[in-house]
Amino acid sequence: AFASDSKEFQDAIAYAKRLPAKLFIGGKWQDAVGGRTISVIDPRTEETVIEVAEGDAADVDKAVAAARKAFDFGPWPRMTAKERGRLLYKLADAMEAHKEELAMLETLDNGKPIFYSRAADVPLSIDHFRYYAGWADKIHGKTIPVDGPYLAYTLHEPIGVVGQIIPWNFPLLMAAWKLAPALAAGNTVVLKPAEQTPMTALRLAQLAQEVGIPDGVINIVTGLGPTAGGAVATHKGIDKTAFTGSTEVGRIVARAAADQLKPCTLELGGKSPIIVCPDVDIDKAVRDAHMALFFNHGQCCAAGSRVFVHEAVYDAFVQKSAEAAANRKVGDPFGAVDQGPQVDSDQFAKIMSYIDSGKRDGARLMTGGKRAGSRGYYVEPTVFADVHDHMKIAREEIFGPVQSIMKWKTIDEVIARANDSNYGLAAGVFSNNINWVNTLTRALKSGTVWVNCYNLYDNAVPFGGYKESGIGREKGEYALSNYTQVKAVYVPLETPAW
Ligand code: NAD
Repeated sequence: AFASDSKEFQDAIAYAKRLPAKLFIGGKWQDAVGGRTISVIDPRTEETVIEVAEGDAADVDKAVAAARKAFDFGPWPRMTAKERGRLLYKLADAMEAHKEELAMLETLDNGKPIFYSRAADVPLSIDHFRYYAGWADKIHGKTIPVDGPYLAYTLHEPIGVVGQIIPWNFPLLMAAWKLAPALAAGNTVVLKPAEQTPMTALRLAQLAQEVGIPDGVINIVTGLGPTAGGAVATHKGIDKTAFTGSTEVGRIVARAAADQLKPCTLELGGKSPIIVCPDVDIDKAVRDAHMALFFNHGQCCAAGSRVFVHEAVYDAFVQKSAEAAANRKVGDPFGAVDQGPQVDSDQFAKIMSYIDSGKRDGARLMTGGKRAGSRGYYVEPTVFADVHDHMKIAREEIFGPVQSIMKWKTIDEVIARANDSNYGLAAGVFSNNINWVNTLTRALKSGTVWVNCYNLYDNAVPFGGYKESGIGREKGEYALSNYTQVKAVYVPLETPAW
């Protein structure tokens, strides 16, 4: 069944109906100034679950004013760093106390299997807040020896009001990646969730208020991209923007930041290569490459969407990959399945058109290739073999459950082909030969390389893109520099006369 009326689903609906479906501005839940709402759609049934407020430029104005007031006059940047950290730990604890509710909301909103919401999205998000709670009192500058009788030192200060725009593929986790480092450093935030998946961000804001994060520190404006998102990107009262989403919209956000000469970090798309060498354990490489692409229905910026397999193991790899995809269980994400529906009708249509283009361009369709079911945004797990580098499915981001497999012969050739992309987010290398591993790891132009594994996202390890996959790094110590600025201070050292 692609949409059963299970108890889990009923629980999720009950949680959704209980949400404060308004804008969260200055600690108050408010309707949009324009009075409009957006329907949140259940991707299993294409039916509306709830309506949330549709914020616009006037609402972003209010949110920025609240964040400004909280930054310039409120307690958040003024309390001790340890106290800020303590509040972030409390938020993580509150999330943990409501982890089942958050997982249910995430699956209802996004369509990902409840198993993954419970095992990945929610615990990783909680851990992210804990990780940066720990950093709050460890953000400090340096003392610097200088010429002359001066004490010189640096302060790492928050930037101010931060505008953040996030996508729908990991709604809660992307909110955590954005909010946690910004808050730990003492900034205040205006966050715009994706219009498809606003629910967990609203619940998160409510929990933040309950644990005592002061009013105006976190402001949530739900709304559409060009209007609410556009207002966040262009608002003169915002001191720094951070965006995760498509490269196309990333350019718009970066241009707006350039006009105002303000810092902007971007996490964008990818077309990440996986290189399978002839010496591998084929079954393991097939399994890992399968998860690299099909995890989260292919809706991962780092999806391993170009699988380069050495000719010596190519035929076996293709055969086993097709079997793995064909065995993937597609169905209601509240049940025990591997894959639920894609997030919305636009993504569904885009993926189907890429599948058509793969067929037209002469790639060999091994399995899948059609819609699954007749209602909801379900797509059959699809594998194309004999994909050539010039084909559209090998160049553009599909963001769906469509695996493309290519053949390679020499290491120089595969390095050049893997790097022949505007993107550079992630890559996978599968080999037991240390020299091949080292050569490939260093030659690949990407922000992450996973060796004999894929999709590891420890909160302490940076993540971000080379080339058009982004600017800056999220996670780990590296992300703190996105949300701090450095002040240099000189003070004369004078010996007082006694
Ligand atoms: P999108 O860029 O259309 O939307 C992302 C966010 O931007 C949403 O909140 C949306 O409302 C907002 N937005 C849209 N138009 C805007 C505009 N003109 N001004 C300001 N904001 C605007 O992307 P999508 O199609 O929703 O998401 C899929 C894409 O996101 C993929 O390309 C994927 O690779 C990328 N992504 C990247 C990462 C990463 O970490 N690098 C993570 C998740 C998704």
